[in-house]
Amino acid sequence: LVEVEDLTVSFGTLEAVRGVSLAVNPGECVAIVGESGSGKSVTARSLIGLTGENATVRASRLRVDGQDALRFGERQWRQVRGTRVGYVLQDALVSLDPLRPVGKEIAETLKLHGTVPRAEIEERVVELLREVGVPEPELRAGQYPHELSGGLRQRALIASAIACDPELLIADEPTTALDVTVQAQILRLLDERRGAGTALLLISHDLAVVAQLADRVLVMKDGVVVEEGPTGRVLTDPAHPYTRALLAAIP
Ligand code: ATP
Ligand code: MG
Repeated sequence: LVEVEDLTVSFGTLEAVRGVSLAVNPGECVAIVGESGSGKSVTARSLIGLTGENATVRASRLRVDGQDALRFGERQWRQVRGTRVGYVLQDALVSLDPLRPVGKEIAETLKLHGTVPRAEIEERVVELLREVGVPEPELRAGQYPHELSGGLRQRALIASAIACDPELLIADEPTTALDVTVQAQILRLLDERRGAGTALLLISHDLAVVAQLADRVLVMKDGVVVEEGPTGRVLTDPAHPYTRALLAAIP
């Protein structure tokens, strides 16, 4: 679904990501872990063409949804993002349009995807918000992102990401801002998605979450992948000293 080889992303003189290779296959959950600033989010954003204008992205290969994404222009990226790849970026406030009620935003995604009949879109929006655990979804659909609490905003973002019924869902810290009950609910939802065949690229600080969901783990440090392998192996028998330190840091 997505495959990148030798990815390097720099912002001016800062090389945020160096020589990263990864692939996510259908139905698979791959996790990226690593300390703050190690390049996890930049890697994720490179896979959907959202690194920003000041970024230089290089790779020897970048394939998204069976296409050569190194040649993508903004129009093609938008096509891929709206229909094949759903994403929850780390900062819900920048990912949601501040000038649109969240229900409208989700409705736009549904329209772009085109599988839900127009007349049923409003109903589906409410259903999606309910699915991700938003109480009073009819009311909330009419509210703007800044009118929602951080947790509700995060859930609206997830609803928006799964609205297009994506083949791949990229989730950057999807549960970080949420209380444990909602966290469990979101994890269950992601797991259900996976059961239904959606591949998942999960970025999380929370190794418990990673242990629960991921088939494979990549460990990043200073822009480089220092270790990767099956989740069970990496978490129980880490080969790299940094992974060991990461595991030792869990309370
Ligand atoms: P966290 O766990 O805190 O989310 P991360 O691993 O996701 O960290 P990234 O967001 O990928 O870290 O950032 C990697 C590096 O790239 C950091 O040094 C960051 O400051 C830098 N960086 C990210 N985006 C930009 C940008 N748009 N312009 C300049 N530098 C950036
Ligand atoms: Mg990040």
